[in-house]
Amino acid sequence: MGVSKKQYDIIIIGGGIVGLSMALLLAESDKRIALLDRKGRVESFNPEQYDVRVSAVTPASVKLFEQLSVWADMVSLRVSPFTHMHVWDGQGQIQFNAASMGMNELGYFVENNVMLQVLWQRVLATANIELLNDIDLDYLQRHEHNSNIELHGGDTVLSAALIIGADGAQSWLREAAHMGITERNYQHHALVCTVKTEKAHDKTARQRFMPEGPLAFLPLGSAHESSIVWSSAPTHIDTLIQLSNDDFALALTEAFQSKLGAVIEVGPRATFPLVMRHAKQYVQPGLALVGDAAHTVHPLAGQGLNLGLADAALLAEWVLQDYAHKNERVNYSTLRRYERARKAENATMLAAMDGFKHLFGNDIPLLKWLRHRGLNLTNRLDFVKSLILQKAMGIAVL
Ligand SMILES: Cc1cc2nc3c(=O)[nH]c(=O)nc-3n(C[C@H](O)[C@H](O)[C@H](O)COP(=O)(O)OP(=O)(O)OC[C@H]3O[C@@H](n4cnc5c(N)ncnc54)[C@H](O)[C@@H]3O)c2cc1C
Repeated sequence: MGVSKKQYDIIIIGGGIVGLSMALLLAESDKRIALLDRKGRVESFNPEQYDVRVSAVTPASVKLFEQLSVWADMVSLRVSPFTHMHVWDGQGQIQFNAASMGMNELGYFVENNVMLQVLWQRVLATANIELLNDIDLDYLQRHEHNSNIELHGGDTVLSAALIIGADGAQSWLREAAHMGITERNYQHHALVCTVKTEKAHDKTARQRFMPEGPLAFLPLGSAHESSIVWSSAPTHIDTLIQLSNDDFALALTEAFQSKLGAVIEVGPRATFPLVMRHAKQYVQPGLALVGDAAHTVHPLAGQGLNLGLADAALLAEWVLQDYAHKNERVNYSTLRRYERARKAENATMLAAMDGFKHLFGNDIPLLKWLRHRGLNLTNRLDFVKSLILQKAMGIAVL
């Protein structure tokens, strides 16, 4: 049996939220794009039940979805705006309010399956993107102007001048190209779940920092439902996952200091190990990484996906500029420019999340004092708060 060879201009590996967005951004060129995923199809939206995976989506990411003309479709399925944020620990607290910052909302919580379904449908309807599912990648072969990817079984070879890895935390491309990684276990697992509470959430995102880790209640569209993210030591999360629904609801009510009254209903629980990862190289000639393939960060500030979308937006902008100059291939200098810009920005966020986790997960008296002074002072300084918020929303550089 002969080998089937398929030639594209761009191959994107990974059809998660970042990979799908990347493909749509690049489809603005006339290039032939293949989008590969090892899964059969994306999880679909279920109007009867909230997805257990929900992400805070910043105004900068909303802007990107608007640019792709997919935001209105997401809104028509289900998105949950939030107008207030309240963060506290045993010592101090900080509050944010959209109106006082001259904004209608601080951001949105969006179920991952809403984003995936809308983006996936748009990709299916885009003529120059070919979606290849159930793909099992075998090996990468590099040539001067082209790379080949051989699929498992050896009877199909896909080639392109540019290959983009949007293939998540365990990126196949990162490994295959030996791009290297710095990795550190946060010693936290995250437990996620949809819950119903006695009191309405009033569109307020709340997070309590405990020495063991943060617990967030993220408001959903219906006034009494929230998506929770509880990060703590793996043994603690193991215990929580084994509790009956009633006992888990009690443990949540207590840990959250009854801020929303009693937790009266809990949905299915899922857990994720939390690991900080940062690729040593984002690019090589003809190759680039975006999203979780390049970096993973603690979810305490809901930034992972937003950083990945910012990677995709910048890479697409500069790649499209190269194509617009009638370049057949993307210059390595363009890829290096992308790497320099995004690596510095992502490193800042990774370090900030590390600092936060360390600051709040520590009972050393000096740190406790700093935490108290820091949170309460910051609460009064509207200008500083506004800067922090803008940074967290991806619309300013501190
Ligand atoms: C508990 C928790 C809460 C979070 N909350 C937030 C939040 O509020 N806001 C936020 O911005 N971020 C949040 N994040 C982070 C966010 O979920 C991730 O950063 C984001 O989903 C990464 O998207 P991605 O497309 O880069 O990767 P993924 O979603 O991992 O997608 C990778 C895709 O590649 C495919 N793939 C993998 N390997 C291969 C292969 N070998 N061949 C072919 N296909 C392959 C996979 O099937 C998948 O479809 C959270 C994370 C966790 C764990």
